[in-house]
Amino acid sequence: MNLFTPLSQISGIGSITQQKLKKLGIKTIRDLFYHFPHRYEDFSNLVEIKNIKLDQPVTIRGKILDIKTSRTWKRKLFITEAIVEDKTGAIKIVWFNQPYLTKILKKGNFVSLASKSSIGKNGVYLASPAYEKINDLSEPIHTEGLVAVYPETEGLSSRWLRKVLKPLLAAFSNKIPESLPEEILKKYQFMPVNKAFWQVHFPNSLSEAQIAKERFAFEELFFIELFVLKEKIKLKKSNSPEIPINLPLIQKFVKSLPYKLTDAQRKCSWQILKDMEKSHPMNRLLEGDVGSGKTVVATIAALNCAKAGYQVAFMAPTEILAKQHFKEVSKLLFPFKLKIALLTGKEDQITSVKLKNETIAISRQKILEKCLGSEIDPHTKRGQGAFGAKSDEVSPRSGVGVDILIGTHALIQDQVRFKNLGLVIVDEQHRFGVEQRAKLTKQKAVPHLLSMTATPIPRTLALTIYGDLDLSIIDQLPKGRKKIITKVIAPNKRKSIYEFIRKQIGEGRQAFVICPRIEKSKTHNLESKTQKEDFLGWAEVKAVKEEYERLSKEIFPDLRVAMLHGRMKTKEKEKIMKNFKNQKTDILVSTSVVEVGIDVPNATVMAIEGAERFGLAQLHQFRGRVGRSIYQSYCFLFTDSPAKKTRQRLEALIQAQNGFELSEKDLEIRGPGELSGKRQWGIPDLAMSSLKNMPLVEKTREAAKEILEKDYTLKKYPLLSQRLDEFQKRIHLE
Ligand code: ADP
Ligand code: MG
Repeated sequence: MNLFTPLSQISGIGSITQQKLKKLGIKTIRDLFYHFPHRYEDFSNLVEIKNIKLDQPVTIRGKILDIKTSRTWKRKLFITEAIVEDKTGAIKIVWFNQPYLTKILKKGNFVSLASKSSIGKNGVYLASPAYEKINDLSEPIHTEGLVAVYPETEGLSSRWLRKVLKPLLAAFSNKIPESLPEEILKKYQFMPVNKAFWQVHFPNSLSEAQIAKERFAFEELFFIELFVLKEKIKLKKSNSPEIPINLPLIQKFVKSLPYKLTDAQRKCSWQILKDMEKSHPMNRLLEGDVGSGKTVVATIAALNCAKAGYQVAFMAPTEILAKQHFKEVSKLLFPFKLKIALLTGKEDQITSVKLKNETIAISRQKILEKCLGSEIDPHTKRGQGAFGAKSDEVSPRSGVGVDILIGTHALIQDQVRFKNLGLVIVDEQHRFGVEQRAKLTKQKAVPHLLSMTATPIPRTLALTIYGDLDLSIIDQLPKGRKKIITKVIAPNKRKSIYEFIRKQIGEGRQAFVICPRIEKSKTHNLESKTQKEDFLGWAEVKAVKEEYERLSKEIFPDLRVAMLHGRMKTKEKEKIMKNFKNQKTDILVSTSVVEVGIDVPNATVMAIEGAERFGLAQLHQFRGRVGRSIYQSYCFLFTDSPAKKTRQRLEALIQAQNGFELSEKDLEIRGPGELSGKRQWGIPDLAMSSLKNMPLVEKTREAAKEILEKDYTLKKYPLLSQRLDEFQKRIHLE
């Protein structure tokens, strides 16, 4: 038996229990050891029966004089009553609805019982105490001292866990290999692993349990940091195309824009261009609030790269957005005569290439060939002479190939190979491993990566799970944007908001109405569903359909109302979006598919139903769909939840217009359990809650750096290396 022995091989763990454990991600003995209690019951007040005081948690030991179960007439309740005696006296015990107890506890048994004492008609008694039989051989584990209480999900009782854990921990006593390096353990004076497991599950004192937990919290973050920093070193050690900055080209582009770039956009563009000059791959996250203008910054990088003779892949999270990017980038780059193609999901779908302001439809196969450059003109030398003395106007590859390929995840499918990929841009998708990047291209060099997000990342997360990314932040909105007026709307004020919407539409504006799905997810957290589930989810359709019916027939029968949800066919979705954009509809009732990136500047009202069901970051994203023009915009949050936390969160949204402030607030109020990284990284709860703790995050980062500086390969730390491999398998990079 070792730590990795599957629980199926442990006698006494049946297949039903195994299933339950599996659902919690617990498969091996070690997984079980890492399943931590969330609190402790204090049963350390062991007293003799005659000394029991009222309303105090007590533990008693005694002999069962009598025990029987009966059933009440009225409420059909099982009541088990017992008399327990020690050498000082006897006391009555009552349990409710646990008729099986009479099968376990028999007259004459010695037992240990723990609960708060109560008083009834016939004096003091114990109500529903924790119980266990005792003998000379075993120590009580459920009723004495500090007793661990586990989150009782999947029907696994704390009792069961304690019963299984104790002998297992005993069997491993002092044989669990130390997972932290010796020097780290010493430096921070952490509790050694064997002792720590005992103290977490069967603590001597609360403070020791706490010290043990601190060690494990450090450990989890430490592995994350180690992984992330190692990834960073790996990037520094690999090669990528050096793409020189073509200043005249960039200047020409900036001049061609219909607006002035903000200082923040300039600064970020420069950081990106500087990175791409280097011979190791860029790994940069461009963070900017919704509407801050990330697309144009990415376009600058794409232009410089393409004109230098390297291809660009630009990935969007949804088809609608891919098409929007395709249009926008094609428009911005029109004067530069680049071949820009759109590639979307379906296998045989005709897709398009933009050239000379005409969209030409060509087959997917053709695009793939073009990316690979198999259509290459033998007279043109790819990648050479990009800045041939004459001009920067004509791409060295005019007439053949694809310079910029824009698309959805279809871009990372296996068939797509680039001949000469210089830059990968990923919108709203934080992670993209080095290996995946390398797989996209036939060349040896690893392409540069620019990741973009409007989801602000709290500082602690930036240092941990995104710690291998360099950050560029657009912390400034384009000039002239008005602050969006945000209000929480109580149910009785609904009518006045509809009147307000009607007035706005009368003035020529448009409105969004967002509906959450109807299905109650366990956590009430929509962010925890993947995008895919969003698209496949039927449940939300019902909510949005009902709302659409109501608004279009009862509230606004005279206005043009449309509906959008993820179950619609792409064509249909596009048509609806297009109509809305072209002001052929007034109100768009939608699910969260409009969340990211949709750009309809004429819309000035964002009304969100069931606002309490969305995370702050997501609400902020919705709000960012309006306020994109000179018109005053409004965001109305409908909620009938009286919960204090809801009020607090929505209040935070009203106060903060800035996504960065909001992310810190969200972390503070909700805790990190629901932050975006959790799902993707499968980060244990313990580590997630440590993410609130900046000093701890800094400490783990220091420690990880120290180890990697000594031994990047981790050859001297085989255990660490193994844990890291497991960690890598657990997280799925996308
Ligand atoms: P996001 O950062 O949310 O992706 P976009 O790139 O979609 O933002 O830009 C939002 C809108 O702002 C677009 O309509 C874009 O044309 C416009 N825009 C971008 N930069 C500027 C600027 N410097 N001045 C004015 N408008 C800008
Ligand atoms: Mg965008």
